[in-house]
Amino acid sequence: MLISGYKVELELARDWIRENRVKRVLVQAPPGLRNIASKLIEELSSSLEEALLHGGGCWGGCDLAVAHARAVGADGIIHLGHARFLDEDPMPTLYLECRRGDPEPLLRTLERGISALEGYERIGLGATIQWLDHLDQVKLLLERHGVITLTGPPTRPLKYEGQVLGCAYRPLLQLSSKVESYLIIGSRFHGLGLGLQTEKPVYYLDPELGVLDGLNAEVERLLRSRYGYIERARKARRMGIIVSVKPGQLRMQCAMKLKKLLDGADKRAEILIMDDVDIEMLRDSGLEAFINTACPRLSIEDQERIKLPLLLPAEALIMLGRVRWGEVVRSPRYLMMEVEYHGLR
Ligand code: SF4
Repeated sequence: MLISGYKVELELARDWIRENRVKRVLVQAPPGLRNIASKLIEELSSSLEEALLHGGGCWGGCDLAVAHARAVGADGIIHLGHARFLDEDPMPTLYLECRRGDPEPLLRTLERGISALEGYERIGLGATIQWLDHLDQVKLLLERHGVITLTGPPTRPLKYEGQVLGCAYRPLLQLSSKVESYLIIGSRFHGLGLGLQTEKPVYYLDPELGVLDGLNAEVERLLRSRYGYIERARKARRMGIIVSVKPGQLRMQCAMKLKKLLDGADKRAEILIMDDVDIEMLRDSGLEAFINTACPRLSIEDQERIKLPLLLPAEALIMLGRVRWGEVVRSPRYLMMEVEYHGLR
């Protein structure tokens, strides 16, 4: 069934409800798909005793509302807009990916903006789950313009060839020696996540906004700003380490290791346990800077609103003199959230 231009697999949902004997379900949807969630609830009402709409954040497949579902006695979760992220779901969960039905906005934007990709012969290609069904058409169109596109087999937490998440680009990064640049279909957000991890030029195509553009200048500007926040954090004595209870973002061990390193560097560190990161709470805490062990993109997208430094683990290690800026910046290590990846146990 097509709802607001998205393919919603109603029969799959009905089968899943029947097979799992789900009676009360909690339906989660990210911003932009919440109207689909309420229409879905209407469609499924005859198959369930109760369908409840989740009112909290739903930023990725990492963000399963397990605690909320248990609190209200739900025996299953329907999660819209994302593919499976966790290896195992803590409770019966159906991921309804809601892919876009019509490739036209994507192909039109590509045709119109293709001159931006002139001069490249081999491009690494990725897309968000919503546009994944149309990747073959993108490949063909680019081939007609003399461009060969490459994708890589999926690696955890990615589920599909060609898929990207705001925190997961490993198959594309592994193609680095084989491509001259990258094109990410989805949004500026998704392109930027890759741009921070590679020296190669990254372009993004946003079919909703009809934009195809390069990100190099924005990546450079952003990194200058990140460097400034690291310098500010050096001067902070009281720091907070943010741990999220979202199942795919929970990194307590990492937080404990960072706390030990901060203690050893004569800084006072508190571990803050949060679900959605509450900016007001951070500002009220009296702490002077933060390290984010939750979703890496919080440090990029929410930094300007928080104002106080909100460092990634890699940036915290730079601040502490454990790794060098040049070792991680524009490399796959930049968004790696576990300190082990940076050679620290
Ligand atoms: S950790 Fe952040 S970027 Fe990654 S899937 Fe979750 S919300 Fe998206």
